[in-house]
Amino acid sequence: MDSVFPACPLPFPETPQDTWIPLVGLEQMERTRYDVLVVGTGAGGGAALWRLCNQWRGTGRKVGIIDAGGLMTPGHAWNVPTLNRGRWFDYIYNPRILRPLGLTLPEFPGARQLFALGGRTLTWGTVSPRMPASDMRQWPIPLREMQFYYKLAEQAMHVTQAYAAGSSITQILLERLWNTGFDDAVEIPMAVDLTATRYGEVRSDAFFSSISFFAEALNLMSFDFAVKARAVQVHVENGQALGLTVMSKDLKPYALEAKNIILSGSTFETPRLLLNSGIQGPAIGRYLTNHSSLTGVLTLNVEGFPEVLGTLGILYPASEGRPFQLQIQGPGSFAWYPQYEQKPVREDWEVRILSYGRVESRFENRVMLDKNRRDLYGVPEIQVQFSYSDKDREVIDRMADFIRQAAAAITGKSSSFMLPLCLSLPGNDNHESGTCRMGEDPLTSAVDPFGQLHGVRGLYVADNSVLPSSGAANPTLTTVALAIRTADYLSERIDG
Ligand SMILES: Cc1cc2nc3c(=O)[nH]c(=O)nc-3n(C[C@H](O)[C@H](O)[C@H](O)COP(=O)(O)OP(=O)(O)OC[C@H]3O[C@@H](n4cnc5c(N)ncnc54)[C@H](O)[C@@H]3O)c2cc1C
Repeated sequence: MDSVFPACPLPFPETPQDTWIPLVGLEQMERTRYDVLVVGTGAGGGAALWRLCNQWRGTGRKVGIIDAGGLMTPGHAWNVPTLNRGRWFDYIYNPRILRPLGLTLPEFPGARQLFALGGRTLTWGTVSPRMPASDMRQWPIPLREMQFYYKLAEQAMHVTQAYAAGSSITQILLERLWNTGFDDAVEIPMAVDLTATRYGEVRSDAFFSSISFFAEALNLMSFDFAVKARAVQVHVENGQALGLTVMSKDLKPYALEAKNIILSGSTFETPRLLLNSGIQGPAIGRYLTNHSSLTGVLTLNVEGFPEVLGTLGILYPASEGRPFQLQIQGPGSFAWYPQYEQKPVREDWEVRILSYGRVESRFENRVMLDKNRRDLYGVPEIQVQFSYSDKDREVIDRMADFIRQAAAAITGKSSSFMLPLCLSLPGNDNHESGTCRMGEDPLTSAVDPFGQLHGVRGLYVADNSVLPSSGAANPTLTTVALAIRTADYLSERIDG
């Protein structure tokens, strides 16, 4: 090609990358001594990583993070444009994605796990209320401090009530509820970034997943990240954490060294890893809680409503003396689904009322190792022992009355109208917690009030398992707030 102009150079990367997020191999990680190694990339692990990278930018500290799963979607599944409601449902409830633990756990048959970068935040409903102060009064953390960390978590996750606010169906039903004594009903808080563009930044991760934590962390400092890397053993010597044995997908073991370890494998996997490492403690794996959950679907006649109903999202939070919360969602029986959904014009719409009830923390409800069954890494499988107490059943009965009263308020029917309700199988709420609960007393808690394992320096837990009690609010915002606090404590100890 004859030209007076020199040819523009063809683009060619200096360090070609095969994936949409930088990865390193376990061979390389084995050659590094980390200040902190994080196990698991769900809500807790992502939050801890993000906060450490905030605190340590420019310090040269070494942070590594691993996940047993691979790269599934580059953000929350609601951000994936090819998944509409039906395809999303078929995809995430595919047992190879959200894996039912329950098939082998008769007492906790609804439980599911997701092994991938992002953990279950790839599929969560993003509903993000704070726990009411009355539910945290017995916690070993000052309430004022919790409020500070809630603020940080809400900011980081872009929690807003604006998603459903102002839509006609939410507004009309809120007014009906307020009129009938449901004074505390509010627009539901969700972790969704509604600032579509900001100075030319177009968001592709509007619905929050912990991959958004990774995105921000990558802008702050570099860290090592390996996928398909399963931690199978924690190494502890003389009460000090030293590192981990991690298995690759071809079952090769690697010994990773770290001065500090944060376990964020989930309420099931974190106690499993501790127990498999011979780390005992009277509360490890104990005090398993979930939320009891009742659902009712009612038919709402929308004649006279504005033509565009919008989305319905109402929260009726728990409070002192009311140990449960209600979520009112729709239109359509399966809550909202944001993408590419054409809603037909109809006069009758389903509205779903979903409640979560507080469940007592009881020693006998537990996650333990099944010595007779091992996974392909040789780690004993999980067993769960779980039942509801009499007090839990009372809460369920009270929730049923309340749902029916709310249904009557919404539809204008009499409160004797018996809306059919169903009770979720234990575990199906996906809100399990407590198996490494925080507390001062090593007899009744696994970790101290900052998330460090009682009796083991440098070994921390940051996931749903640290919640001291279930409360009635969806857990993830609280887990993120506590994970940020644990990261602050850890970095202050190292730096100070
Ligand atoms: C369909 C659905 C809807 C939900 N909706 C809501 C909601 O609206 N609001 C709410 O608050 N919560 C909701 N949840 C629950 C929420 O997803 C969890 O509370 C949250 O993800 C728990 O965070 P985690 O860090 O404890 O565990 P997870 O998010 O489960 O992450 C654990 C991570 O650890 C990795 N891992 C496990 N073991 C190992 C190991 N040995 N080595 C290496 N990596 C390991 C896993 O691969 C995974 O990435 C929902 C969940 C589901 C499934």
